[in-house]
Amino acid sequence: MHLDPFELHRPTTVDEVVRLATELAGRFDYLAGGTDLLPNYKMHLNAKPHLVALEDVRELRGHSDSRLGAMERLADLEADRTFGRTHPGLTDAIGEVATPLVRSSGTVGGNLLVDTRCFFFNQSYFWRSSLGFCLKADGDRCHVVPQAERCYATFSGDLAPALLVLDAEVEVAGPSGRRRLPLGALYDPGGDGIRRTRLAPGDLLVAVHLPPGPPGRRARYKKLRVRPSYDFPELGVAVAGAWDSERVRSLRLAVGGVETLPRRFDDLTDPLVGTPLTPEAVNRLADEVQRRVRPVHNTFLPPDYRRRMVGVYVRRAFAEAREGSAG
Ligand SMILES: Cc1cc2nc3c(=O)[nH]c(=O)nc-3n(C[C@H](O)[C@H](O)[C@H](O)COP(=O)(O)OP(=O)(O)OC[C@H]3O[C@@H](n4cnc5c(N)ncnc54)[C@H](O)[C@@H]3O)c2cc1C
Ligand code: SF4
Repeated sequence: MHLDPFELHRPTTVDEVVRLATELAGRFDYLAGGTDLLPNYKMHLNAKPHLVALEDVRELRGHSDSRLGAMERLADLEADRTFGRTHPGLTDAIGEVATPLVRSSGTVGGNLLVDTRCFFFNQSYFWRSSLGFCLKADGDRCHVVPQAERCYATFSGDLAPALLVLDAEVEVAGPSGRRRLPLGALYDPGGDGIRRTRLAPGDLLVAVHLPPGPPGRRARYKKLRVRPSYDFPELGVAVAGAWDSERVRSLRLAVGGVETLPRRFDDLTDPLVGTPLTPEAVNRLADEVQRRVRPVHNTFLPPDYRRRMVGVYVRRAFAEAREGSAG
């Protein structure tokens, strides 16, 4: 496997990035840590002739308890113990991304925008050519849902569910200016495994903002994967909330790794606010989330198994959040 030639651009400010994005419209990708993008380029998966490296853009760096620069490396967040105590669920998720080596280059922005995955797509050119390619790259049909005109590749980032339950917002800069939107609004429910976000061409993720949580908030992220030291999620469940023996004061639950998008289940958790979080309530919630998710057969583990594990992982996440200390 080899990289085809590309031209590398190294802007140093967000304005310069946006100017380049406008100039190179449709012919470039942003390069953060490159841990997802470059392996895909080596497999000739939708490679572009230009790469805009974000490494030298200072505004994209740095973190505090309330702001994560898009170019902040996962290993730098992991090493910050104060941050870990403030955001326990998010720290669970960061520590579960790939391997320490990948986390030393992989960034927050790259993780939120990591490409969707499918075992008919994440393959060499030769392997894919023998099958006739697919909708997501070079072809015109889907091997997972053959009658479909959309792609079902799975969203496989660990940070998104953990950030969704913290009500994170993303700051975006692009040819049409700067804006801030809830993280949930970044992912497009009307999209698919190919067009998965609402970002316009050239939009750059600048930072993630974390609003202050309710006092005593607890959070947890639980991940199912085949090899615990290495693999992408086959399922990721995040919970965050504040509750005591009397009643729930706030509650969020999000699931990733099973569909084309990570998603939150506010219509199931909002009615629990003001009521006691009994084992029966957690069981009902787990059963309903499990009933709603729709994995397809495009990752290593069979979809029925992944769906059944959703319920198990929701229960586990709550059990551990109950025991863990409040963030
Ligand atoms: C062996 C291996 C195992 C892995 N396991 C996991 C895992 O378990 N969980 C997981 O979540 N990920 C996993 N990954 C994927 C990847 O390493 C991580 O998601 C990582 O955080 C991606 O960050 P990056 O900076 O390297 O992104 P890049 O590869 O540089 O970029 C990823 C995508 O995001 C876009 N992008 C990056 N930054 C911006 C920005 N600021 N604005 C707009 N677009 C941007 C790029 O153009 C590209 O499309 C794994 C990768 C490997 C190689
Ligand atoms: S879900 Fe279908 S279209 Fe999408 S990557 Fe897999 S085979 Fe290709």
